[in-house]
Amino acid sequence: MPTRTDDTWTRVEYLARQLKAPRIRDMARRLADQAAQDGWTHLDYLAAVLGSEVAAREASGAGQRVRAAGFPARKTLTDFNFDHQPAADRGQIHRLAAGGYLTEAGNIVFLGPPGTGKTHLAIALAAEACAQGVRVAFDTAAGWVTRLQTAHQIGRLAAELRKAHRHGLIVIDEVGYLPFDAEAANLFFQLVTSRYERSSIILTSNLAFSRWGQVFGDQAVAAAMIDRIVHHAEVITLKGASYRLRHTTIETLPSMAAEHKTN
Ligand code: ADP
Ligand code: MG
Repeated sequence: MPTRTDDTWTRVEYLARQLKAPRIRDMARRLADQAAQDGWTHLDYLAAVLGSEVAAREASGAGQRVRAAGFPARKTLTDFNFDHQPAADRGQIHRLAAGGYLTEAGNIVFLGPPGTGKTHLAIALAAEACAQGVRVAFDTAAGWVTRLQTAHQIGRLAAELRKAHRHGLIVIDEVGYLPFDAEAANLFFQLVTSRYERSSIILTSNLAFSRWGQVFGDQAVAAAMIDRIVHHAEVITLKGASYRLRHTTIETLPSMAAEHKTN
């Protein structure tokens, strides 16, 4: 014969299903035993059950946002070696990771030569933003321009910019490796302008701002863009030799070895 407790559990299961919160059902049982053992109050128990559901939802939401962001690799602050990159101040990076810049629509710019950790730090900070509930989209500068060009061709540029704007943070990686023609520069300018003081950008570039004129084919366009990006930004200039080649000397690179052979 079912006891009153069994009936109550059945009802809890039904209610958890109605709430679309199956974890509440599991945790309610598990935590009930613990609560009885440790003499929790009703309030402690309620807080623990709801807290476990919220934590699980946040974790799965963060995972979804990381997957949706399209990061090219998984990078975290924990696996960033700050000793190898003294130009990145650990305190400053961790303060940025806390996400204050996101609520102020601020930007972060990483400058520096190849292999100094620009993309690594951009991904790590953007992943922190995902964990804080912010929608993120990652692409290279060339990738963003291609997206905008495709949208422009089918008359959906405004819609594409609005879509980018639904992301509280976009990462624009590798500004400067590929020069833009006038149309691409114009689209990129619109992307930057549409976010100005509204939502955040993390941007990386191997080129100092003084050389952006070459990328965008126009000094005035580059200056206007830099103005908007930098107005509310922290600019961090990384330095040193490539981390990728830290165990290599230039003479031991395959391409160099080949060159030596032909000589
Ligand atoms: P960049 O974007 O500046 O060219 P990346 O961020 O892609 O450089 O770094 C190149 C590789 O070296 C990546 O695999 C990255 O994770 C790693 N790396 C760079 N700097 C560090 C560092 N200080 N600590 C740990 N890994 C690093
Ligand atoms: Mg990079």
